[in-house]
Amino acid sequence: PAAVRRRVEQLAAEGVDVVRVTYPDLIGTERARDLLLEHLPDACEHGLAFCRAVYHTSPQGDTVPVPGGLDAGLPDICVTPDLDTLRPLPWEPGVATCLGDVTDPATGRPAPESPRELLRAVLDRCAAVGLHPVVGPELEYFLCDSGPDGTGWRRYSDAAGVIYTAGLRADPDNHLLRTLRSLRDTGIGVSGGNHEYDGAQFEINLTHSDAASAADRAFAFKAAVKELARAEGRLATFMAKPFNDTGGSGFHLHLSCTDDRGGNTFADRAGPYGLSATARHAVAGVLAHAPALAALANPTVNSYKRFGPDTLAPWLIDWGLDNRSAMVRIPPERDAATRFEVRLGDASANPYLLIAGTIAAALLGVAAGEEPPAPLEGYGYDAARAPLLPATLSDALDALEADTALGELLGKDFTTSYLTYKRDEIARFRRHVTDWEFTEYAYHL
Ligand code: GLU
Ligand code: MG
Ligand code: MG
Repeated sequence: PAAVRRRVEQLAAEGVDVVRVTYPDLIGTERARDLLLEHLPDACEHGLAFCRAVYHTSPQGDTVPVPGGLDAGLPDICVTPDLDTLRPLPWEPGVATCLGDVTDPATGRPAPESPRELLRAVLDRCAAVGLHPVVGPELEYFLCDSGPDGTGWRRYSDAAGVIYTAGLRADPDNHLLRTLRSLRDTGIGVSGGNHEYDGAQFEINLTHSDAASAADRAFAFKAAVKELARAEGRLATFMAKPFNDTGGSGFHLHLSCTDDRGGNTFADRAGPYGLSATARHAVAGVLAHAPALAALANPTVNSYKRFGPDTLAPWLIDWGLDNRSAMVRIPPERDAATRFEVRLGDASANPYLLIAGTIAAALLGVAAGEEPPAPLEGYGYDAARAPLLPATLSDALDALEADTALGELLGKDFTTSYLTYKRDEIARFRRHVTDWEFTEYAYHL
């Protein structure tokens, strides 16, 4: 309490009078409450009550029948501010933000389906065998303007041929520079950014760190980019494949692992491909569990439209040495910089679940001690050469349900809630008549 009081005095001296306490829900949306600074000590002592079923309400307002939600009378969860995660919100003067720890008041224990606590549990399992994952997230998104009549969102720029560029030709309003500088001032830890392949698509990279901090920062990053765009009257979307005439947005993870003494356990110059046995087993684990992992890395009905030949997104379950058409790419650096780039995830993934699932799959591979198949060489979109990723969210959810080893690591309560929520999402989608159906059928049949 004395430490909290000191922190409150410090914040007041910095001109902060409101703290925005946020936490990720099951699907990675940030839930939050703006708290007047003088109430922070009380919130740190007793927690803030939120309705648990908020996780489970669809945008259409239907309550999704997830266990512990409406069936249990919409009980509370308790969110305790984690002051170690406090950061400024430079575009909202007087406001600082922090994450919260989510507990179930009925048990006093971490809420089992809470993504942040789930990642911690997976990391504890890694630490128990002396492994400490290091993660560097890379996120892509599209920036949209509203249409001339103030309705409908369209791409902010339709510049073509702008991959790996920066500057006004692709970004006439300097959105990237402004966003990069604001993000720097939040302390989220971004290193740089550039225009991506398609008009109005950007990529910003986060610095690498321990996995828990990387997830917290990627979560804060998505919220910050969306807020900054909104402040300009724009929409930043991390949807996997928002447009028919462009590629999708990835959420690549650079992953390595240190041992208890801080050495890179993936590095071994003398090993096959310059990779240690731990690294090769970890690759084998990510490949073996990829169909189930897709349920977390590619969590929407829309996600599966990003996959495909010649997309720069993966299509097959494969790995390659410095090969961007593979699902897992081993960048060319070795020794301390030896790492994988897991290219499976799309930007819509909940950062906690993507990171927890990827690490859990790698850990299962290390435990199984199996070697991966030979790495892909050359063109990576030949379906004769490797198994296909799931074609739909429904297939991926079935794979997650069937993958008992991964399910055990993630926790039964989590998988049950997640499968229930996501299968309801699919059912809602199946009942919905899309634009494509009207265009395809209305005139001709
Ligand atoms: N946009 C691609 C994806 O969806 C990735 C492009 C790149 O290599 O950065 O994963
Ligand atoms: Mg990219
Ligand atoms: Mg990348």
